[in-house]
Amino acid sequence: MVPPMNGARLAVVLAATLATTAGAALMVTGAQAAAAGCRVDYRVTSQWSGGFGADVTVTNLGDRVDGWTLAWSYTAGQTVSQAWNASVSQSGSRVTATNASYNGSLGTGAATSFGFNGTFSGTNPAPASFTLNGTTCTGAPTTPTPSTPAPTTPTPTPTSGPTTPPPTSGWNPPANLAGPLNQVWQHVEQTYNNGNPLGFRNYGWDQLFANRGAINYCVRWDSSATVTAAQRDQIQAALARQYKKWISVMVGHNGFPYTDVPVKVVGWAVRDRNQLQWSDNSVDIYVNNIRENAPQCSEPCGRYFNQNGQYPNCPGGAAHHYDHSLWLTDGFAGGAGGDWGQRIGREYFMGSLGSDNIHILLHEIGHTYGLDDFYDWDPLPGQGFIMKAGSATTITEFDTWMLRDWWRHLKSRYGY
Ligand SMILES: [Zn+2]
Repeated sequence: MVPPMNGARLAVVLAATLATTAGAALMVTGAQAAAAGCRVDYRVTSQWSGGFGADVTVTNLGDRVDGWTLAWSYTAGQTVSQAWNASVSQSGSRVTATNASYNGSLGTGAATSFGFNGTFSGTNPAPASFTLNGTTCTGAPTTPTPSTPAPTTPTPTPTSGPTTPPPTSGWNPPANLAGPLNQVWQHVEQTYNNGNPLGFRNYGWDQLFANRGAINYCVRWDSSATVTAAQRDQIQAALARQYKKWISVMVGHNGFPYTDVPVKVVGWAVRDRNQLQWSDNSVDIYVNNIRENAPQCSEPCGRYFNQNGQYPNCPGGAAHHYDHSLWLTDGFAGGAGGDWGQRIGREYFMGSLGSDNIHILLHEIGHTYGLDDFYDWDPLPGQGFIMKAGSATTITEFDTWMLRDWWRHLKSRYGY
């Protein structure tokens, strides 16, 4: 850390510099050169035959920037086909992404995300390095190299990442879980968003609060099967019932404001309208809008594509937007979950509509709300829980407190 340099001291140093001639080692660098620095989290979020989707989070570790360009090179012939929350262009292997109108300003420590779909063949390695406005992102701030003698003033250290501990009031987990919960949060801090989990702003929580306590869904019917009106309604009911299991552990806890979170399917995406055996207009229907080889509801209506929460180009307006997708794929084993929603097998889900616990869906909704996976470590040996895949089929007390720990860390964001 460098103590702040006040005006008087700065004047003295400048005077000394001016009075010093050749060979001087005295330079004022920290005070006049803009600090630059950045950290990039590049994540392939889904991959299919010949295509992939990626998420990029840029954290500005230097002085404030108003307008940014992030550049990288692909080494395996990948191409970017379509982007959101940034304008992306490509020339040969060189890709440049420029901010959208609403995410160009990044203060010190601020982060923003954008996403894109691309194509690849063979392998799909992540880029080895990135530059932000021309400065290589090393994860640490740097100042421009002076052409004159080396600075004697160290680079200012920007503040970045969370600096205040989470509140402890309202936080009273059972004594036997306190240690494991701390381990879990440490793991989150080490592995999420390049060590800055709170810099990410599209968790399920963010979506829930942006939508004032309700969640809208799009069903991506990635299937050749038909759907009756009765099945449509059973799907909506099952989804709402499973969602309620997570929300109910938050009701009344530590200032969480909602007692009931309405979950509504507002849209269906299919390949062929004839698969849907109803004629009423109770849901929006999107036909043959294929993304990632699967039907998808309109992007202008999707939260994932409009992370500022504005839906100016959504037909029907913001009331028709969707926060999550429930992506149901024929023959899909296991599941996937994230800020975009949840993906599970169509046969599994349709066969579980009457089940009390649709445990793969519960697990994936947990991911949407930030909860971690536990494939390679176990904070609670010998005791199953839903987020440790395959070890439990219901939300356990440990799952409950992991969810509540996210609320503890995020709630100040929403004014609680
Ligand atoms: Zn998982």
